[in-house]
Amino acid sequence: GGPRESKVRVRAHFDYIASSDPYIPCKEAGLDFLKGDVLHIVSQDDAYWWQARKEGDRNMRAGLIPSRALQERRILHERSNEDKSDSEAEADDFAREEIATYEEVAKLYPRPGLYRPLALVGPPGVGRAELKRRLMATDPSKYRSPVPFTTRAQRPGEVDGKDYYFISREKMEEDVAAGKYLEYGEYKGNLYGTSIDSVLALINAGHVCILNPHYQALKMIRTVQLKPYIIYVKPPLFDTLKETRTAAHAKSTFDENSRAFTDEELRQMIHRGERVEFMFSHLFDDTIVNADLSAAFETLMRIASSHLVK
Ligand code: 5GP
Repeated sequence: GGPRESKVRVRAHFDYIASSDPYIPCKEAGLDFLKGDVLHIVSQDDAYWWQARKEGDRNMRAGLIPSRALQERRILHERSNEDKSDSEAEADDFAREEIATYEEVAKLYPRPGLYRPLALVGPPGVGRAELKRRLMATDPSKYRSPVPFTTRAQRPGEVDGKDYYFISREKMEEDVAAGKYLEYGEYKGNLYGTSIDSVLALINAGHVCILNPHYQALKMIRTVQLKPYIIYVKPPLFDTLKETRTAAHAKSTFDENSRAFTDEELRQMIHRGERVEFMFSHLFDDTIVNADLSAAFETLMRIASSHLVK
């Protein structure tokens, strides 16, 4: 008996008045709310219209509200009408991070006795993958990273559930629309992403979950209450960057592409780093300048062992 328990609670980041929404299938069925209201999501079965109740509402009436995907789309649409002057692709990526729709609240985590996840953020190429690899190698039973999902075909030798979870595009799009992914992206026509549940599973099993999100995925840090410890991996000044990423050096340490970076790529790395810092520095818990890799790794180890308190 009693009203159905809702599993998902979200805080709204926008006002909604159903009677002035021209797209709602039935105005009477809509649920009005204000920015800051906490909503209990009763159903996410429809990709565009969720059913929700308002917390603190006397009768807790359930009504239709726009889904996260629908609201994001509307905001993007409004923005593209407002400002067509800034057409730089990268600027659009950053604009996307600014869309605040619903923020999940009061997940089971954080709980005492569990580790906060550790997220390494920074521009592509700065060496986050290598830092992560080294950290995980120090204690593979403590440090874990979630197995990503993908829609691409399984290759010979790959193990489902180990290399990736291989799923259909239909299923993945459905789950993305339902807000089940921390981050996702498309690469060569296939979708890739990390689910919130797979991160929670690692946390709840007592691991330090290591995340390496692309800067475009930093939004998850704001919208999902995983309380990650966020470390910004910063490129050093150009001369030092060039010196530490020469061909010989790259071979032994920064071997992500098994070649040295061009000056242009190094400048782009610094530029991207500045943008990431400009947009997100208020979210950083720590910064590591990755000039000398061994020194950077030592700093990471020190942070990981002292700050990642349970
Ligand atoms: P592959 O298909 O060769 O295994 O991976 C190709 C690319 O997919 C990787 O280089 C990476 O850019 C992307 N990728 C892999 N896992 C993820 C993920 O969890 N999220 C996102 N956004 N991209 C991923």
